Amino acid sequence: MTTGTQPTVKARSWGAAGTLAALALLGAGYMARAAGAPPAAEAGGAGEAGRRWWAHVRYLADDKLEGRLTGSAGYRQAAQYVADRFREHGLAPAGTDGGYFQPVRFEVQQVVAAASRLALVRRGREEPLALGPDVLLGSRGPQPPTVDAPLVFVGYALHLPEAGYDDLAGQDLRGKIVVYVNGGPPNLSGALKAHARAGAEFAKALQQAGAAGYIGIPNPRSMDIPWARMMLAASQPGMRLAESALQDTRGPLFTAICNPAAADKLLAGSGHSLAELLALAGAGKPLPRFALAASLRGKVVTRLDRVEAPNVVGVLPGADPALRQQYVVLSAHLDHLGVGEPIRGDRIYNGAMDNASGVASLIEIARALAAGGKKPRRSLLFLALCGEEKGLLGSRWFAAHPTVPASALVADLNIDMFLPLYPLRYLTVLGVEESTLGDDARAAGAAAGVEVVPDRFPDRNLFVRSDQYSFIRKGIPALAFSFGEAPGSPEERMKKDWLTNRYHAPSDDADQPVDLAAAAKFNRLMLALALRVADEDARPTWKQASFFRRFAQPGGK
Ligand SMILES: [Zn+2]
Repeated sequence: MTTGTQPTVKARSWGAAGTLAALALLGAGYMARAAGAPPAAEAGGAGEAGRRWWAHVRYLADDKLEGRLTGSAGYRQAAQYVADRFREHGLAPAGTDGGYFQPVRFEVQQVVAAASRLALVRRGREEPLALGPDVLLGSRGPQPPTVDAPLVFVGYALHLPEAGYDDLAGQDLRGKIVVYVNGGPPNLSGALKAHARAGAEFAKALQQAGAAGYIGIPNPRSMDIPWARMMLAASQPGMRLAESALQDTRGPLFTAICNPAAADKLLAGSGHSLAELLALAGAGKPLPRFALAASLRGKVVTRLDRVEAPNVVGVLPGADPALRQQYVVLSAHLDHLGVGEPIRGDRIYNGAMDNASGVASLIEIARALAAGGKKPRRSLLFLALCGEEKGLLGSRWFAAHPTVPASALVADLNIDMFLPLYPLRYLTVLGVEESTLGDDARAAGAAAGVEVVPDRFPDRNLFVRSDQYSFIRKGIPALAFSFGEAPGSPEERMKKDWLTNRYHAPSDDADQPVDLAAAAKFNRLMLALALRVADEDARPTWKQASFFRRFAQPGGK
């Protein structure tokens, strides 16, 4: 089953010989193997680099660490493991405690569904909504204890006046609950739609318009996980940063999502059906906006708690006397979902691909740099983050309170669930069109024989679904990466199956088929990209046409 070759390394792309030595070490013993067999059985053929990477994944995704929930003992043990590896590979501590840790404080919110209730009110009569099968209450932001408000459908609820698009324009939303379908018109970029839908941006637009809350209806075409599993996940606690200035909302905002299969309960009497709205969305046509024939009434019971958890920060100081004051960040979130509702008897959400895999890549990149012995011109900052699964919180904290001067952060390369399920031929790079980092990614990809492709599923909102977005919000050019695939290919099916069956499920554990050689190749490519960005004369810049450039400008939002 094993075929494979060492990809060609072009010396010109990466400069010095020491760099090449580091790359060679990262890829030592590289041999491709077909995905499908459990990695343990194939470890002998996967090569040193792939096996070392996998050993970190195994440690971090072990049942003993209980799914690394932010604030848990398992998370702390994982953080200690990462700090120890950072030290072992010569990274200097860059936390706030003189060591590798940057503590972050959180509020934890548990929605008590059993004590909460919701009903539609139509002509004075209450029609109960089933919490779980019909509607799930949001757990992250502060919920109002009671709700009694009219419902209004506003298309995609996207507020992007800068891009000439605004579903909220001309609507009186004061005191109302906004109902919308996830997604957006095809002429807006995925990055832009994702940005308008991001927690802070979306909540701000709605609260400025005076809305009392929102109910989102996922589009079945872009749902990663089926409703049944979303119901199981709803019992997990939500979190927000304890620092109120860094929270999404200003005061309570009612938030919920509605099962698409139950959405016609909301729409009944309006003259519209979900099937009709989804057909319009699917055809790229504008969605209507209209008042719903029902209002929403109910009470929401939540329980509050507090926890603390650290980001883990290490730095490889740069060699250039001037440029070493600048930092290229390599980030990956360390947290996962912890212990939750059992699926097939397993309660531990191990988070092997999400995202022990990315943290393992950070460690292996640090190892290769240490072994290669040559320092890049700029400093490299290695960042293992807490709170990602709860809303990119550890990265939001770090970006607001960096442990190096904020202006010294020049780029973020974020690795989250890159999914090495099959050989690495295509790499999806989120943000590739937004900054010069995209050009660097294309060049590093080409040198490794990997084609960089844009996000083919923009409605999944991936651009705002991992930690790179916290840096983008602070004006720092950033990218995120995952394995790509050709449309209609077996690889596309494998990825879709993985998302349906393993994503945020206990089966994302160390007993799944992973292509170790492909992971090693990915790590080598990430190292090459980091070195390229760290060694260039000029720091990365946003493209003139990028929407996100505004965050880099003084006086911008
Ligand atoms: Zn996740």
